[in-house]
Amino acid sequence: MAEQPQGAAPVPEEVQSNVLLTTVDWIYNTGRTFSLWPMTFGLACCAIEFIVAGTARYDMSRFGMEVARPSPRQCDLLIISGTVTKKMVVPIVRLYNQMAEPRYVVSMGACATGGGPFKEGYNVVSGIDKYLPVDVYVPGCPPTPEALLHGFITLQQKIRTQSVRTVPWYRKAYSSVVPIPVLGPDIFSTRPEAVKRVQEINMQRMMATRAAGGLAIAEMQILGADEFIVIRNSGLAQDMTGWRLHSGAGDQSYSFPAGFVLMPDAEVRVHSGPEAAVAGPNDQVWTKRHMWRNEGDTANLMDADGNVVSSFSHQGN
Ligand code: SF4
Repeated sequence: MAEQPQGAAPVPEEVQSNVLLTTVDWIYNTGRTFSLWPMTFGLACCAIEFIVAGTARYDMSRFGMEVARPSPRQCDLLIISGTVTKKMVVPIVRLYNQMAEPRYVVSMGACATGGGPFKEGYNVVSGIDKYLPVDVYVPGCPPTPEALLHGFITLQQKIRTQSVRTVPWYRKAYSSVVPIPVLGPDIFSTRPEAVKRVQEINMQRMMATRAAGGLAIAEMQILGADEFIVIRNSGLAQDMTGWRLHSGAGDQSYSFPAGFVLMPDAEVRVHSGPEAAVAGPNDQVWTKRHMWRNEGDTANLMDADGNVVSSFSHQGN
């Protein structure tokens, strides 16, 4: 019989050979260590070596890593295998943010780690660690499959040192969302001031796009006892939650239902009048009362902030 630790409760004899005592950390870490699911993701020549590591000769499934998944939501290991260009780092960070915790990053090869032969290139990121927290670096150009396997084993050793009491992802209010880098005109940095500047530029562009095309009242029609307003969207998809129509003549407002999205190049018909009826999936019924009848009666379309986006006067039928 094993010696009883001092102060421990006695274990009944009949269960001593059937009970295994261990720590929560050991169970968690063993599960994580031998079920690392890498993302099916490659960037350049290093990715070929990553692929080779999965073949029969090297067989990374021996370490529980054969389940390469095509969706970041099913992965917990991101292998940066190849040259990271400035254009590509944006989706890489987005993919990383889509992975669930706990998640790990292996920087494979000279390019991913520091730019490699393309360091100082106008289009190459000089190290993925500037954007993502890297757990293991695998040197080489390219690293051999054996080197990558060694990187996996090193990562497994790191996971075994973690504790559920100290890992950040079990803490309240913890968020590991990485700011997505913005590729702007000659600006590329995640420094807050640079990101702010690029956001300003993007906002200006978006406003210009909106000015060029957007939502507008295209028609006000009366068909017998049914009258309707046609709103067309010639800009980007627009969530119309909080948007409303206001009839100047009837001094009545119609609010769009929450979550109603008007897609680009689509239109919505908002009906009023005693025979107001829905005729299509994009139709909305405003009221059974007439909201305008006379020539010159006006309808205003207002966004969620109350700004008048479009104004239209009934021209008479
Ligand atoms: S480190 Fe070498 S092998 Fe790997 S992507 Fe860069 S150039 Fe290709």
